[in-house]
Amino acid sequence: MDRLAEYVRGKYSTLLARVSLPGIDPLSEQAHDVARLLNLSLLAGPVVVAFVAEFAIFGIWQLAVSLTLAGTVMMASPWIYKKARSLPMARESFLVSLFAFKLYESVFLASVTSPGSTWFIALPIVAILLGSVISGLCWLGISTACLLILHHLHAGSPNMAGLLPADMNFLYTFSLVVLGLSVTIFVFMVEASRKNAYLRLQHANDVIRELAIRDPLTGIFNRRHISTRMEDAERRARTGAGPFHICLIDLDRFKQINDTFGHAVGDVVLQTVAKSIQAEVRDEDCFGRYGGEEFIVLFTGREGLRPEAFAEKIRQRVADLRFADAAGPEGVTVSIGIATSCNGECFSSTVSRADGALYGAKASGRNRVVSAAEAKPACFAAHPGSASSSVNATSACL
Ligand code: GH3
Ligand code: MG
Ligand code: MG
Repeated sequence: MDRLAEYVRGKYSTLLARVSLPGIDPLSEQAHDVARLLNLSLLAGPVVVAFVAEFAIFGIWQLAVSLTLAGTVMMASPWIYKKARSLPMARESFLVSLFAFKLYESVFLASVTSPGSTWFIALPIVAILLGSVISGLCWLGISTACLLILHHLHAGSPNMAGLLPADMNFLYTFSLVVLGLSVTIFVFMVEASRKNAYLRLQHANDVIRELAIRDPLTGIFNRRHISTRMEDAERRARTGAGPFHICLIDLDRFKQINDTFGHAVGDVVLQTVAKSIQAEVRDEDCFGRYGGEEFIVLFTGREGLRPEAFAEKIRQRVADLRFADAAGPEGVTVSIGIATSCNGECFSSTVSRADGALYGAKASGRNRVVSAAEAKPACFAAHPGSASSSVNATSACL
């Protein structure tokens, strides 16, 4: 059953792609309306065939032929859209051919009492479901006027009806049943395509959300996302959840790598280093690209592992990396500055202290870890956790 559904879905998608205009956003309203037009023309197929067969059985050839002509236009409406590049034209050709046939049938059979007259109700519904309320209102007016005129003509001249089929009751019941079935199937199709569009929109939203938080080169989080996560960490720290730590990691003499081996090799180095550091961080940590060749890790306490030891593991891991490509560096090193948030300190102040520590690591020879505590920032000069240190740290970031 699933295979059949998959097969039908595949065929339908191919058909939809064939009748759609190139360059139309599949999530746009226009694409949605084209899908509805296609649904309707597909639905028209079996309905038209059923009625043509019925008219043929009753020997009413005029109706069988005129419905074949009208049905051909209805089923061709998606291609009319593609050729004319106009959705209103395709929609109105569908409606006009349906209307013309119904009018002919009603006059030809027995005016408003003819089985076909019930179908006049379908015109405004179809027009609205095809995306135009104005067209729907116009067709409502036209259908109503038509029924009234037919009623008037019929009342004045009861014999105006031409050829009456032998079994009018059967025709009437058949017409009603097919109308009911068609409306039900069409509403089901509209609902299914609405649900499908909603799922595609949801998927597109997920993709956009993911793109908004990722760095395109390395695939790790970008600075915007890290800042949001740092705000959260700062908020949690203020409510007593404990401090957070910041690790700023900068590649040593990276410009030289670019200058010697080219920018493309530099990109590969960045990707490889990012992947290597990623392997060291936990799911609950937040690792991202902070700038050009600068990475950042935001993390909270690790059992039995001091922040300095964690940073040292990262440094060692990167230093151990070996690049196989002969047209690139053999290995790279990083310098790391770390800082732990003080009580009440805002995250930008913690980052700035980590940056100061990173500067210290660069100044003292690179390929090393320096903690902000060693850099003696103002935050640590006060007693950590005391009311005065909290005030100091907060005022530092205002
Ligand atoms: P230091 O050890 O002092 O950090 O020296 P450095 O050469 O690493 O630092 P510098 O700031 O002088 O150079 C950083 C270089 O990183 C310059 C820039 O061209 C390069 N860079 C920044 N973003 C990218 C990128 O996306 N791809 C590549 N290939 N290079 C980048
Ligand atoms: Mg650098
Ligand atoms: Mg740098």
